[in-house]
Amino acid sequence: QPQVSCITGDVIGMEALLRWNHPRRGSIPPSQFIPLAEATGLIVPIGEWAIRTACHEGKELQDAFGRELLIAVNLSPRQFRQKNLATQVGMALRESGLPPRSLEIEITEQTLMSSSATTNEALMKLRELGVKIAIDDFGTGFSSFSYLLQYQIDRLKIDQSFVRKAATDPNAAAVVRTIIAMSHGLDIKVIAEGAETREQVKFLMRRRCDEVQGFYFARPVSSYKLVETIERIEAMDTEEI
Ligand code: C2E
Ligand code: MG
Ligand code: MG
Repeated sequence: QPQVSCITGDVIGMEALLRWNHPRRGSIPPSQFIPLAEATGLIVPIGEWAIRTACHEGKELQDAFGRELLIAVNLSPRQFRQKNLATQVGMALRESGLPPRSLEIEITEQTLMSSSATTNEALMKLRELGVKIAIDDFGTGFSSFSYLLQYQIDRLKIDQSFVRKAATDPNAAAVVRTIIAMSHGLDIKVIAEGAETREQVKFLMRRRCDEVQGFYFARPVSSYKLVETIERIEAMDTEEI
């Protein structure tokens, strides 16, 4: 799913979102298989595949557009318990040729706060590789300022629940404004998730949110449709919003 700059209207990158194409049941969303994959441990090989595929497809897109699009990949807490996570990521980067700064790992506040020795080490090693780190669904869990600073978080992703209500609910609007102000104060980028309407996008732009992602611009699409989707978004007149 493409991510769009609120300032230029350009696509700055995209988030990799898994789908399971089942022969009989069709496209199954991650909400139905990720929890199961986590419980069984299958999330480890699935996650490894997701990172490798995202790096390869991301590199192809970068070559097609001649610029450094950002590729964001979700990692569940379970994946941070593997000892060799950073090694795996390093290999995916080398094999694909994707520059490390073009890869962003999305973690939840839960992963950040679990702060086991293995999680800590993995995050530090990912940082050393030059990979970016974002906090997903920000505002729904618990995080501490010290962790935001310790791991030099690159981006906060404002959770959809606030974004959805921000244009109409003053309290949600205040939460969004506060997250944006806090991020900018800490020199962290901020992206809003789940923007579906023009009003929501307009609100985010007025509030100086850096980037936005949501159905208003594009639903998640198969990788072969990304080129035309990016071109369509960039042909939109964001001044008009
Ligand atoms: P997430 O990382 O917070 O991803 C955003 C979800 O919001 C995606 O759901 C996306 O399709 C949906 N979305 C984006 N824009 C809009 C919008 O404007 N309106 C609405 N209603 N929804 C929007 P999806 O693809 O079903 O993924 C659900 C969750 O599954 C993700 O939440 C993520 O936590 C997890 N997931 C997806 N891919 C992976 C993966 O490769 N590994 C792991 N560990 N988790 C993954
Ligand atoms: Mg995500
Ligand atoms: Mg999210």
